Amino acid sequence: MTNIIDGEAVAADIRKSLIDCVSQLGDAGVTPTLATVLMNNDPASQTYVSMKHGDCEEVGIETRDIKLDPDSKEAELFDIVDELNADEAVDGILVQMPLPSHVDERDVLRHITPEKDVDGFHPENVGRLVAGNPRFKPCTPHGIQKLLADAAVETEGADAVVVGRSNIVGKPMANLLMQKNGTGNATVTICHSRTDSLAEKTRAADIVIAAAGVPEMVDGSMLSPGVTVVDVGINRIETEDGSTLVGDVEYESAAKKAQAITPVPGGVGPMTRAMLLWNTVKAAAETASIDITLPWS
Ligand code: NDP
Repeated sequence: MTNIIDGEAVAADIRKSLIDCVSQLGDAGVTPTLATVLMNNDPASQTYVSMKHGDCEEVGIETRDIKLDPDSKEAELFDIVDELNADEAVDGILVQMPLPSHVDERDVLRHITPEKDVDGFHPENVGRLVAGNPRFKPCTPHGIQKLLADAAVETEGADAVVVGRSNIVGKPMANLLMQKNGTGNATVTICHSRTDSLAEKTRAADIVIAAAGVPEMVDGSMLSPGVTVVDVGINRIETEDGSTLVGDVEYESAAKKAQAITPVPGGVGPMTRAMLLWNTVKAAAETASIDITLPWS
């Protein structure tokens, strides 16, 4: 029978454990605090930010909610980040993407102090991840690691195919899977839009992680029986009745082949949000030099 990996349930478990961690920090006089900076009028981004604030409230993390007019100068955003970097009460800083076209995303990510970079996108944190000494793992691949562990999916010696090579999902995911440790030790193939014979590669895989942003591009014909399928994609498509969310995997045919599969919604998405909380609590504990055990660390 196919194991339908329940990301909502795993994320809820992590949040529950984080409540204990936050309470331990509270006993030591520390309240983890996450600052979000939103510089666009995109309704989806506004929803993401407000969901992140709701999650923080649930586990006891304080939040700062900073909104900046999208027409503001880049320097104004840097000033805000500078203030947050210097503010000892702030443990984590998240600048919501996308940014307006006149702002260079890479410059902004470099501007956040690495110790507060709870997204894990600062070059120093990327380097540490690649070198096998991560400070903050990016939330989506980190969440996927936890889902695989919870579903007892063995990565050691497995052939893993990651479809997508973005800096936020594909590359860090591939890096985590190839690390020389118990949650890695996989042999990883990274595929992208120029990959030849994608289906041959996915059919040879024990684990397929689809993060291409192309609705239902991986179907059952591209998979071998017994595969584990992680669907990162979140794509809104038009239907006769309006619109619906689908992943990068054609669920029905893939589920027939898979021994385990994540659904969309309810798979990877909730874990991405939970791991932001995890990173924020870790940041607060490390800044205050308080030794706590984070869930499944
Ligand atoms: P990007 O658009 O940044 O990257 C997509 C990657 O997929 C690129 O490397 C691209 O290749 C590759 N790709 C595109 N088309 C194909 C194709 N036909 N065959 C093979 N590879 C292809 O996307 P993200 O990594 O940011 O996100 C991927 C998906 O995951 C999106 O649907 C996004 O919404 C979702 N997402 C979900 C999250 C969650 O929490 N569930 C979190 C983050 C993202 P190339 O490099 O050659 O262009």
